Amino acid sequence: MVNSSLEPSLCVHLNPAKTYLWAMSIHYQLSTYLSHQHFIAIELSFTLAEPQDVELVLPAWRPGRYELAEYAMNMKHVEVSHSDSEALGLNKSSRNVWYIENCPAGEVKVNYLYYANALNGGSCFTKEDVLYVNPVNCCLFVKGMESVEHILDLDIPSDFKVKGMLPFRKNRMKAKNADELFDSPFVAAREVLSIESEVSGVKTSIVFQGNIPTPPKDLEKTFKAFMRQQIRAFGGCPVDQYTYLILATPHRYYHGVEHDRGTVIALGPDLNLFRGSVYTDLLGVSSHEFYHTWNVKYMRPKEMWPYDFERENYHRIGYIIEGITTYQGDVKLWQSKVFSDRQFLDELTTHLNRHQTNMGRKHLSVRESSMDLWVDGYKQGMPDRKVSIYTEGALIALLMELMVIQATEGKSTLDDVMASLYLFCQEKGRGYAETDFLNILSIYIGEAACKRFFKDSIDRAGSLHNKVIKALKTVGVNVKMNTEDRWASAYGLKFSSDARPKVTHVHPSSEAYEQGVRLGMELLAVNNYLVESDLDVKDVKDEVKLHLKEGKILIEKKLKASEKLLYIQFELSREAGNNAYWEAWKG
Ligand SMILES: [Zn+2]
Repeated sequence: MVNSSLEPSLCVHLNPAKTYLWAMSIHYQLSTYLSHQHFIAIELSFTLAEPQDVELVLPAWRPGRYELAEYAMNMKHVEVSHSDSEALGLNKSSRNVWYIENCPAGEVKVNYLYYANALNGGSCFTKEDVLYVNPVNCCLFVKGMESVEHILDLDIPSDFKVKGMLPFRKNRMKAKNADELFDSPFVAAREVLSIESEVSGVKTSIVFQGNIPTPPKDLEKTFKAFMRQQIRAFGGCPVDQYTYLILATPHRYYHGVEHDRGTVIALGPDLNLFRGSVYTDLLGVSSHEFYHTWNVKYMRPKEMWPYDFERENYHRIGYIIEGITTYQGDVKLWQSKVFSDRQFLDELTTHLNRHQTNMGRKHLSVRESSMDLWVDGYKQGMPDRKVSIYTEGALIALLMELMVIQATEGKSTLDDVMASLYLFCQEKGRGYAETDFLNILSIYIGEAACKRFFKDSIDRAGSLHNKVIKALKTVGVNVKMNTEDRWASAYGLKFSSDARPKVTHVHPSSEAYEQGVRLGMELLAVNNYLVESDLDVKDVKDEVKLHLKEGKILIEKKLKASEKLLYIQFELSREAGNNAYWEAWKG
């Protein structure tokens, strides 16, 4: 039930098309009484001052994931009731929109169940001991009333603790409008550990939910180091409070989503959270998401300012919002000494190798790949169709950084470009155009160089690795080719690294491609020896006989090693001696 103290007062809400008399706030009550079946029971209520048509909309997507979502498939038992009317009809007008025709004045309540059984950085999940909610998935909004206060109450067990991007008082969260509600995920659970601190004036909470080992003693210090580095780079932080909401999963998992005042990170396996590669992932994703506080949450492509939750928000600058963030997330860990030189160079190596492996670089530019996020950006779609805005964008960012360092003889870096963009958005408004960014970059590298770089590397499909190798040389980093993996270099084949290896890549210039070796085929035997783990397939000769399985069909292929190099891996290392530009880069 909605708390009786929530009696709404009335105000005039101006809509460009019509003038309505609306209630001053929208209320949501979320209850866990069906959590054991993964259901959140939701009641939405609002009061109308006069009869009118009402549209209720479930967001068509969520910020951070630029594709249409089907949240409506998680809804059932959608019912409407009214304080003064029994016969109120609720119908759908599209897959995620409901309407009430000529709704009478008075209080309207909409009740429904939301199936919350997906645990990732941007979803909803509930069971007996936890309620994790991204309101953008499950809260219907009342069209035309997005700008009024949105109040959310929780009906949860008394021993649950609640943590989220916005504060909760007595299980109540107040968002100033629908945008803020949708940007404010939270978790309520018995197992919640929170580490509170302050970094350069930003109140910081590192919150863990799940079955985690004891965090390392220097965790807080480590987070402070990279956060300080970022705040210094921008000359200030747009928010005074930031929450890392870290959901530890029992299985291997890696996902983070940015918000104005924090991030949700789903990461596992939980038992390894503070050691080895999982801990490196935790620091990597945390630094990446914090950088988004400026780059996409505060300063944003004008096509997404404000967000339109009803349809696709197309833009072409994924290389700025995700590419620069991916690159800078690692740079800031390196500059703050959380990452060693070796760790940082390894991250760059990964981007370079992924770029080299993806033949999509020959077909679609990073700008057009941004647009196509809305087509298949997050799915394992057709091979080699487009590039990743993360990988390609990170290399573009690296090239921009090294161009700035060289053009200014080490006096400026990409930090100065981004700080100037931040200042520009503070002065001119938070939505910026691609040309605004390029104009700022031109100040540092010159107009002609900027135009040439945009034309050759951003707006056109093509390979970047030769440009990257040349640029890295200027900061004393050597790039060497590694052809040890002969499956990749001589046969143009890559396999998944599990006990039953499957083909993940086929180089279009390879004999394997010509002969019809395809993605997803399982490698059963090499030269009549059964393959029982990926280790068995590393050492290969100049001719091989493969037995592959596709569905129920057994296929035999005989392949000869290629004389030219197919998939290449790179290795990065530092030259001995001092390099002034390396020092400028490292900060
Ligand atoms: Zn990101």
